[in-house]
Amino acid sequence: MKPWTEEELSDMRHWEKDHVLQAQKEGWCYLCCDDRIVCPGCTRGMIQLRFDELFTSCGFDMRCPECVGYKQAAKDYNMIQMMLGREQRITDAEVEKKLSSID
Ligand SMILES: [Zn+2]
Ligand SMILES: [Zn+2]
Repeated sequence: MKPWTEEELSDMRHWEKDHVLQAQKEGWCYLCCDDRIVCPGCTRGMIQLRFDELFTSCGFDMRCPECVGYKQAAKDYNMIQMMLGREQRITDAEVEKKLSSID
């Protein structure tokens, strides 16, 4: 998992920062708490820290973009959008762009 920069940490609200720092220290995933699955509407703001584009409605399972992978999470996002009848998708090109920015 890519470590957080000072700049990212300074932008966080207190409880987000506490959650991330604790996760970093103890070695669990700050986003899914090691469930490997997140509800994209229920991360209490955590998904927006690095994956704002994956935020969508509550009540669906999304594979964790941090510990399962962004590609899988984006696929789940597109599936959720399809089930909701929404147009917004994450394209393969966007996935590649994001992956090159987080590696
Ligand atoms: Zn995770
Ligand atoms: Zn939810």
